[in-house]
Amino acid sequence: MPSMLDSEIKFLPGVGPKRAVLLEKELNIKSFRDMLTLFPFRYIDRTKIYSISEIEASMSYIQLRGKITRINVIGEKGPAKRLVASLADSTGVIDLVFFKGVKWVKDKLRLNTEYIVFGKPTVFNQSLNIVHPEIDPATEENPFYVGNMIGVYTSTEKIRNSGIGNKQFARFEATLLKQCHESIRETLPGYIMENKKLLPLRDSLQNIHFPADLKILSQAQMRLKFEELFYLQLSLLKQKSFRQRTAKGILMNKVGDYFNTCFKNIPFELTNAQKRVIKEVRSDFTSGKQMNRLLQGDVGSGKTMVALLCALLAADNGYQSCIMAPTEVLANQHFKGVDNIIKGSGIKAALLTGSTKAKERRAISEGLLNGTINILFGTHALIEESVQFSNLGFAVIDEQHRFGVEQRAKLWSKNEAMLPHVLVMTATPIPRTLAMTLYGDLDISVIDELPPGRKSIQTIHATEAQRTRIYSFMKEQIRAGRQIFIVYPLIKESETMDFKNLNDGYMNIIEEFKAPEYVTAVVHGQQKNENKAYDMELFASGRANILVSTSVIEVGVDVPNASVMMIESAERFGLSQLHQLRGRVGRGTDSSYCILMTGHKLTKESKQRIDLMCSTQDGFELAEADLRMRGPGDIEGTMQSGLPVDLKISNLAKDSQILEDARNVASRILEEDPLLEQPRNSILLEGLSRLKREVKDYSQIS
Ligand code: ADP
Ligand code: MG
Repeated sequence: MPSMLDSEIKFLPGVGPKRAVLLEKELNIKSFRDMLTLFPFRYIDRTKIYSISEIEASMSYIQLRGKITRINVIGEKGPAKRLVASLADSTGVIDLVFFKGVKWVKDKLRLNTEYIVFGKPTVFNQSLNIVHPEIDPATEENPFYVGNMIGVYTSTEKIRNSGIGNKQFARFEATLLKQCHESIRETLPGYIMENKKLLPLRDSLQNIHFPADLKILSQAQMRLKFEELFYLQLSLLKQKSFRQRTAKGILMNKVGDYFNTCFKNIPFELTNAQKRVIKEVRSDFTSGKQMNRLLQGDVGSGKTMVALLCALLAADNGYQSCIMAPTEVLANQHFKGVDNIIKGSGIKAALLTGSTKAKERRAISEGLLNGTINILFGTHALIEESVQFSNLGFAVIDEQHRFGVEQRAKLWSKNEAMLPHVLVMTATPIPRTLAMTLYGDLDISVIDELPPGRKSIQTIHATEAQRTRIYSFMKEQIRAGRQIFIVYPLIKESETMDFKNLNDGYMNIIEEFKAPEYVTAVVHGQQKNENKAYDMELFASGRANILVSTSVIEVGVDVPNASVMMIESAERFGLSQLHQLRGRVGRGTDSSYCILMTGHKLTKESKQRIDLMCSTQDGFELAEADLRMRGPGDIEGTMQSGLPVDLKISNLAKDSQILEDARNVASRILEEDPLLEQPRNSILLEGLSRLKREVKDYSQIS
């Protein structure tokens, strides 16, 4: 039966068809339910009424009650013109000052009438006053505005202009709570409510909008956050357990000659973390279930080698593999990098990118179909329809955050008989809470150890004033045989401007580091592929001393001889991105340096970020800090667009405890009742199908 909560928002008194369109467009509010679950993002405490004699300049927002004793308009036209009204209570007088809407305020205010005034005290001409306070008649029957905690709702300029202000939102919520009282049904089973001592849904909704007191407000928040995170986890875990029960995986039991021969060719000892991850993958390969694994490992931790060794296991069992990278430069490097390891083993690898010539392409097609090619490296060119394998058994996606979910899905479909095992790799250390939400249905492996002998990277914050000194330092490094990265920001919105910065920067560099003594390569997105490859090769082979580039294309590039990374306009990068860039150096055994160039003036937050970069090299610590400072939607390298679902009330950075708790509860329920068939869990199935309807793109959760 349709619930009143599903009614279209235009039918809510005070909305109507025009505002309904606006509410949907601006805030995605389509139904009564959507409005009811638009939760305040903060509260104003109007429980206390202060006496005027108590007021101090240091106070934040306060509420007063008094009579207007005088109204004056001071000054002529222009910015000096203002209205000053004196408010008096039994303890004193304070001036209320209005620069805007002078006429409107003047018409509204009545002398000797009692008002409730709300605002922030400031000092002007050595006396206290309040500029642009909210002001309401004290006589008005106004339950939302006097003596309560007042919710403040997310809104937009357009919505405010349409006449829906914060008070109007509060009125909508009040109407809905009354009208829909009977339709608000509990959404969590009784046994969870009892066990977790959660506030019932009705009370929670009432108190999230109109809190009776602080204690019950926090109970309401707790309950709603728990519910939100619980259903998200329940949905992810249910999919995961479904797949584990049904998705048969290709059995790959053998460890054979390919693996053993190549293993001997590796010029170094694998780290324990690498060995552990290979074991984890192997146990998936032999489990009979399809593998879906996320491999997290800091930059330079050696993920490529792990991927290669797993691909060799697949080859030993007669299956093909593919390894997909986000850029040609990277795909190239992967391909070339495995050369000395597969040499003499009989493994045949190929490279397929956008610039692969037609003839070569045909040869690859043939090799893939007749099974002579064991491992295919490439960019997203390798998921094109025309690319067909004879028996793809293992697919790797490197720097997975650079690919969309559809691209992952396309890879899966490359073997129609049976889904290939999938390993997605990321160098962005994703904080646990975020990983649980984004990849709740994947298994996670972590390489938490760098190869031995890596020196720490000394990170320095510098401004224009130090540039000359930095250049001479770079020249010293070059004389010592080392190479240098110089990176410019590239941010979508202002691509042309960024490109100009890069170009100007490049000109300055070749002016300062003159040829033929110095060779400078340059790589950016607007170059032709062959020029890009040429310059990249120039640097990778050691013939160029300096590589000037933008940030985006260089993810994952490995030039162990590079010892200095200079990042221009470092304040424009996020922490995780800075960390990734920094990881390009420090791969050799000599000391390395990262120089963060910024403008002279920095916001407090930018300063914090730069300081943190200088003080730690721990990717997880930086990722956690990034999540705290910028919020999950902004996290570099997870999903540029933010989460697949809008979290309405929880905050992943702050509510990790609740998330973990919710996940545990969900996981226990599914263990006992994987299909949620028990009568007491039927309410959960309803909840899940509601979630499915609300999520914008359900396929994105996974
Ligand atoms: P990432 O995890 O960032 O992709 P790479 O796979 O590019 O890291 O590895 C970085 C460098 O470390 C490469 O030059 C690789 O050959 C080297 N490497 C990988 N594993 C080890 C190891 N166990 N010991 C020493 N060097 C290693
Ligand atoms: Mg890599």
